[in-house]
Amino acid sequence: MRAKIIDGKSLAAALRAAQKNALESLAARGLRPGLAAVLAGDDPASRVYLRNKARACEETGLRSEVHEFPEQVSESALLACIARLNADRAVHGILVQLPLPRQLDAGRILAAVSPAKDVDGFHAVNLGALLQGRPGFVPGTPAGIMRLLEHAGVALAGKQAVIVGRSTIVGKPLALLLLQKDATVTICHSRTANLAAVTRQADVLVAAAGSAKLITADMVKRGACVIDVGINRMADGKLAGDVDFDAVAEVAGSITPVPGGVGPMTIAMLIVNTVRAAELSLE
Ligand code: NDP
Repeated sequence: MRAKIIDGKSLAAALRAAQKNALESLAARGLRPGLAAVLAGDDPASRVYLRNKARACEETGLRSEVHEFPEQVSESALLACIARLNADRAVHGILVQLPLPRQLDAGRILAAVSPAKDVDGFHAVNLGALLQGRPGFVPGTPAGIMRLLEHAGVALAGKQAVIVGRSTIVGKPLALLLLQKDATVTICHSRTANLAAVTRQADVLVAAAGSAKLITADMVKRGACVIDVGINRMADGKLAGDVDFDAVAEVAGSITPVPGGVGPMTIAMLIVNTVRAAELSLE
């Protein structure tokens, strides 16, 4: 293997450990940051993600709670729960686990979360702040990717960054963060013509399509930094990213693994945001 592995697991652990000082000064003021998760339905992947988030919270010293609802929950029941959490002084961060059941309007539910507790950064107020380059909560996955790139010493100014995937939680906010660092950014999607021709231009290639092994070695420029956001459950039960890891690692300069790359960073950034929300609640 040629590429350097960018280890998200250890960076995430270091980031969480670095919250210790902030947690101690909050504790001295009688405050323990609390994260409340809202889960509707019985999606097994959502349960795994929530369990991982709750475990990371406990290990770091945050309080966590989960509010569970059946698949058929009404919008008014979820909105009432969010209103209670908005008003609860022991709750500093609220996350609504996506995807929500089909009958619910996800936009309306996410808009109900107080922007001050929106530690996932999905509220229009926080996304708008990101667009304008003002302070706010930045979604965990793109924020975590920026930390990974910084940690790996990947140059961004003047470089070509290509993102495959244009979702509101990964592709679009990441494009804004890369622009802030003076990269030249291209966003690809399912209608992009000749995807390989575009990805081959990338000095930094981010795959966030949700399509296993979509990115093959011939789509990657020699020496590029490849960030794999994808989490795909294979027939054998194993997890695979959006990148054909073994082949691409022979071409890339650096690469994140799945698991152990972007995933743990997403959780670490959620914790960083929740600690920050608790600090801001005192101001
Ligand atoms: P979405 O389904 O919301 O978006 C996927 C995007 O990829 C869309 O813009 C879609 O295009 C594009 N796309 C899909 N297939 C192709 C293709 N063959 N060629 C080009 N573009 C394609 O997914 P998310 O952004 O929510 O998540 C993406 C992946 O990242 C998933 O595997 C998810 O599980 C994972 N994920 C991982 C996280 C982590 O912490 N590691 C956090 C969040 C997500 P179009 O818009 O045209 O449909």
